[in-house]
Amino acid sequence: MLESEKHSGRCVALVTGGARGIGLEIVRRFLADGYLVAFVATRAEHVKRALDLFGCPEDRLYADQIDITCHNEVDVFVNRIRARLGEIGILVNNAGISPQRAVQDASWLSQTSFDEWARVIDVNLNGAFNLIRLVAPAMIAQGYGRIINIGSLAGRAMPMIAGPHYAASKAGLVGLTRAAARDLAPHGVTVNCIAPGRILSGLTGPPEAAVNRSALTRIPVGRFGAAEEVAHVASFLASPMTGFITGATIDITGGEFAA
Ligand code: NDP
Repeated sequence: MLESEKHSGRCVALVTGGARGIGLEIVRRFLADGYLVAFVATRAEHVKRALDLFGCPEDRLYADQIDITCHNEVDVFVNRIRARLGEIGILVNNAGISPQRAVQDASWLSQTSFDEWARVIDVNLNGAFNLIRLVAPAMIAQGYGRIINIGSLAGRAMPMIAGPHYAASKAGLVGLTRAAARDLAPHGVTVNCIAPGRILSGLTGPPEAAVNRSALTRIPVGRFGAAEEVAHVASFLASPMTGFITGATIDITGGEFAA
């Protein structure tokens, strides 16, 4: 039986960091695709703004202010999603942080404290692992699931802007994607990674910033990416028809990286 045949009824999707930027566009796209959607973000005002923007009833879109590194709170939220919307069939590990370098010309290594390193790994990599661990058993029991990790160009090639913590966390997500894909493949659960290049969002700042003007010169298509373009690929990978794609990393970089 194809996964697409096992997938029946309305699927529940959980998107981390769904209040802004790429995550917000994934939430928008998943709602349009007909999924029931849950999301988390760290700031209450961002969660509220996103909920107000969509104006959906709580049995279609459910969200809370949760830091994904607080594993107990994440655990409780996942159980609340199950009670309100149903079992989670799609997980998008999108929440991520990328600290800025205080002094642009100084080396990253000299400016990265161990605490900052640990925080970035905790949010970007440990947060994803914890959620995969939490939702995978039910996906296995259902014989169906879609897990999508949002990596980065910085984890695929020489990081030109981001720091060592960010690059390591995103390269780690590629490895986690492959390892989880191998484990879950026999159970109808796919695990894939999307690695965006420079996408305009709160994380990257305005296009006229010096760092972005310089980044633009490295992008063959000659423009920045849009969060909607990442959401489009997430929608594709979330669909029941993609059961033969697993362990893959899809680069969305305007040609800046191709392997
Ligand atoms: P934004 O900074 O615009 O949005 C990040 C979202 O994640 C926010 O909603 C934020 O919450 C949430 N978040 C951050 N930390 C946590 C946490 N500990 N717990 C829960 N939620 C959290 O980022 P982007 O949309 O640009 O990036 C989304 C993902 O895409 C990230 O993983 C990023 O690394 C990746 N990416 C982005 C690229 C780009 O060019 N923009 C390029 C490559 C990868 P709140 O709103 O409350 O602050």
